[in-house]
Amino acid sequence: MAEFYDTHAHLDFPDFADELPQLIERATAAGITRLVSIGTDLESSARAVALAEKFPSVFAVVGWHPNDAVRAPKDFRAELRELARHPKVVAIGETGLDYYRLPSARGGTAPEDSHVKARQAEVFQQQLEVAAETGLNCVIHTRGECFDESLRLMAPFVKKVRGVFHCFVGTPEQMRRVLALNSLVSFTGILTFKNAQTVRDTLAAAPLGSFMLETDAPFLAPVPYRGKRCESAYVKEIAAAVAQVKVCSLEELSAATCATAREFFSKLR
Ligand SMILES: [Zn+2]
Repeated sequence: MAEFYDTHAHLDFPDFADELPQLIERATAAGITRLVSIGTDLESSARAVALAEKFPSVFAVVGWHPNDAVRAPKDFRAELRELARHPKVVAIGETGLDYYRLPSARGGTAPEDSHVKARQAEVFQQQLEVAAETGLNCVIHTRGECFDESLRLMAPFVKKVRGVFHCFVGTPEQMRRVLALNSLVSFTGILTFKNAQTVRDTLAAAPLGSFMLETDAPFLAPVPYRGKRCESAYVKEIAAAVAQVKVCSLEELSAATCATAREFFSKLR
């Protein structure tokens, strides 16, 4: 059976409470041998590290999600550095920008939007700094009209830090701009959705070695589980869809995506 990794899941979310041993068992049975649990704030990151200590196949990414940026301490670089030293912490994140869920989308004002955008940028920048210092790469979230701004904030760091633009739904042209920074993209179950032809076009244009696979569990379950809670075992369905678009065998896809992940997440074993 071809082996795959789930490079982005939120295993510390309450959705999976008490059920993690079974979830990991189902993943292993489906050939998913490494699970990367992504932190969304300092507490969630500490929980991800605890899961990595408990389960051999789990690794952690520590950081602060842009949707919670306004809650972040003014400067949390010291706490993040401390978490990043752990031997199973394989990257910083998830970080980045989210202009999709701004205050104005819920009746807020333009100045409120500006405040949130400024905080997101500061929180992103602090994580890029810690990534550069610790020699780790970054897991990057971009949603809404913030792609150019995300690349602009990354630009000063590109010699030291690579990013994976996770849950990538951009155009082939945007993907090429990511790859030009020596960064990567990763694809979720979205590419199995009927209305996601752009994502499949982008995947078709992405060379093997330039992308990884992920679930973003508990979100974004692929067809035929769409709308249900997502879990890491479903990388199997995502991989099958990817192999079809790439016109390659599952073995080739396995070799390419796992090697890409081990290179990007340098402490992943
Ligand atoms: Zn995520």
